[in-house]
Amino acid sequence: MKCPECRANNKEGVKYCKRCGAPLFEYTGPDWKWSVKILGIIYAALIVLFIILKAVI
Ligand SMILES: [Zn+2]
Repeated sequence: MKCPECRANNKEGVKYCKRCGAPLFEYTGPDWKWSVKILGIIYAALIVLFIILKAVI
């Protein structure tokens, strides 16, 4: 398991990083940020679509 803070390799199942002491459980960093980014893009696209539709009608 890689540490999200210092990227040190830790044994599977350990709760804290052996190098920097950062918690390793419930780590959902990049995936969570990625889905938020996609949602933001979809939301922005919907707003643009709505503005275009309003301009047409
Ligand atoms: Zn670490």
